[in-house]
Amino acid sequence: MTPAQTDLIETAHRIGGDRAVTTDPADIGPWLTDWRGRYRGVAPAILSPASTAETAEIVRAARNLGVAVVPQGGNTSMVGGATPPADGSALILSTRRMRAIRSIDASAGQAVAEAGVILATLHDAALGEGMRFPLTLGARGSATIGGLVSTNAGGTQVLRFGTMRRLVAGVEAVLPDGSVHDGLSALKKDNRGYDLNQLLIGAEGTLGIVTAAALTLVPAVRTRAVAWAGLASPDDALALLRRLEAATDTIESFEIVPGSSLALVIEHIPGTRMPLPGRHDWHVLIEAASGDPHASLAEMLEAQLAAAIEAGLVADAVVAVSEAQAEAFWRIRDSLSEAERSAGPAAQHDISVPVPVMPRFMVEAAAALEGAFPGTHASGFGHLGDGNVHFHVRAPAGMSAERWYAEMAPAATRMVHDLVVAAGGSISAEHGIGQMKLGELERLGPPSRLAAIRAIKSAFDPAGLFNPGKLVNLARGGAAT
Ligand code: FAD
Repeated sequence: MTPAQTDLIETAHRIGGDRAVTTDPADIGPWLTDWRGRYRGVAPAILSPASTAETAEIVRAARNLGVAVVPQGGNTSMVGGATPPADGSALILSTRRMRAIRSIDASAGQAVAEAGVILATLHDAALGEGMRFPLTLGARGSATIGGLVSTNAGGTQVLRFGTMRRLVAGVEAVLPDGSVHDGLSALKKDNRGYDLNQLLIGAEGTLGIVTAAALTLVPAVRTRAVAWAGLASPDDALALLRRLEAATDTIESFEIVPGSSLALVIEHIPGTRMPLPGRHDWHVLIEAASGDPHASLAEMLEAQLAAAIEAGLVADAVVAVSEAQAEAFWRIRDSLSEAERSAGPAAQHDISVPVPVMPRFMVEAAAALEGAFPGTHASGFGHLGDGNVHFHVRAPAGMSAERWYAEMAPAATRMVHDLVVAAGGSISAEHGIGQMKLGELERLGPPSRLAAIRAIKSAFDPAGLFNPGKLVNLARGGAAT
């Protein structure tokens, strides 16, 4: 521990007392490794202020002492975004004690939640007021509002409600100089220059620490219908989605699943069963939802799917007849990553391309990868309607994880990203850059975009004290001087 770090820890203790400082290695340990277990960091302490004012005081002290900090919420980042550097040069700045939901206003359709509020807690609180926060994802039991804002998280309802960028009406944050940006007022119109709220959304903790957010709520779901369809190709899947969108504005999830991935779920995840009697090359999971208790969503989906079968777009389909069956369909979708992991090591890519391009991309990129790396299996699943799939390349049968990650996976990842860029897409659709994709962003990011990111970072945080080594590398890229 450096003398400056010791000073900061003592200052944090003076500001917030015992609960604001954790130095016991046993308590710090679980927060040093990322969710996937790929990165391991070192941090001499976790600082946990209880309020925006305490956070601002700690950040001012960190700046004066030149000590780096890593903002951390639920630590569910998929890109090593909240893991401190391995050299112990940063302290973790956790939002775990900022867990108040400051307000829920059903009539205004808005909640103000502090950064450490867990997503599932917000869901429950909104439901208690007859409302819902329409963003959900697999890590909802751990991911925090601050983390979701800072990664511009997406999930399975983006199709209808957008990512966090659309759902965040205001942001309160402590900037790297210790000043407080109060953007919670959620103005419909505000043209005072650059939009600082939007700049902080998706900044991955590199421009300061979000302390609270104003979030858009919509009426709670009163009726929902969930269906599963088997079809021949991603092209047919997208055509089906377009038909559904033309017929109704209630479709909020439309998830594509390759037949090979479904087979892995049935093989590896206990209690799952095939949703349809026959085998199909591709499947989609569809959810329609409404705040109207009398909406006839199951009937609507049945009619639409019957017409799609008639038109030759869909081979077979079923609408869930009970909540249990609907949940069983979702369990298959939510188990895809776990099932793929059981089948062996894989290089996983969270990518997007323009929606109309995605069907062809999924088929052609998979063929190109399998051709270039014999024995591998490549396929994408997920949010087809957002132009975002999780594109996985599985190692050849029998290859050890060690050999795969050392010899083949990096080249496979480069090839996937090259294909994505050639298709006009993004190497990070919803998980962010973190430390995992920093090198690839520097390799592939358009120079104008990289230069702008570096200029913004060095204007906000010239000393590079906020989340060093993530998203933007001032040292390697050359700081604006
Ligand atoms: P952390 O992991 O703690 O931090 C994430 C990043 O945000 C880091 O860079 C960190 O420094 C920064 N950060 C955290 N809190 C703050 C703050 N208050 N102020 C400033 N910076 C901060 N993402 C999707 O978009 N869609 C999905 O469908 C999806 N599914 C997932 C499923 C699983 C099982 C898991 C584990 C993750 C999934 N994710 C998904 C990733 C998702 O982005 C993160 O789970 C979530 O957004 C991060 O929240 P967190 O509180 O865990 O943040």
